Amino acid sequence: MVNILEEIKSDDDFIVDLMYCGTKNMLLQDIYGKVGLGNRCFVRPEMKEILEKVRKELRKRQLKLKIKDGYRPPRAHELMLAIIPMVGFFARSPELSQHCHGSAIDVILCDDAGKELRFPCNVDGYEEHFAKEIKRGEWAAFREHLERGKYTWFSEAEKESIDNRNLQRAILEDSGLKALEHEWWHFNMPNKELYDMVEFDPSGKNIFYCKNNP
Ligand SMILES: [Zn+2]
Repeated sequence: MVNILEEIKSDDDFIVDLMYCGTKNMLLQDIYGKVGLGNRCFVRPEMKEILEKVRKELRKRQLKLKIKDGYRPPRAHELMLAIIPMVGFFARSPELSQHCHGSAIDVILCDDAGKELRFPCNVDGYEEHFAKEIKRGEWAAFREHLERGKYTWFSEAEKESIDNRNLQRAILEDSGLKALEHEWWHFNMPNKELYDMVEFDPSGKNIFYCKNNP
């Protein structure tokens, strides 16, 4: 039987460091701890194959890839939406988030020592002060900051960040993934309609299952 999802583990080329495990995220909460996923990255087997192509490109350039999000349990997505009801930041429902289908990853390139390269912002635009502002209902500064997530964002003074952003896109797209125009950290599988939403039950025999296609 083919597994619905397979695990990506940290190794010489990939660093699994899920942002919703622990509290360094826009929610300031350990959501993946709460739902029983922890710091474990699962993806569709086809995504894992693509990541093997990515691995070759990383090695050629002596780079590593830090994975900040992979499969997201639908319940985790619902908790996230309840905490940050900001239109356009999280998909409006788990069904609409490719993370909940196991067909998306959030990533950032690192040097060979595992240090994140300079990018226009952190993954998700995360900064602790923005997360605190959002908690108080102040959205404006964060919304403006999220402009830095777009591929159209440009600054002559931050050429290095932009070059890294564009290099990451080239490596992942040449390997077969699809970029999202307003979030440089997010990549989807092509043909996303092929992948149903994946349910997660850490206590069950089948930890992952699809309701429509059991
Ligand atoms: Zn994402």
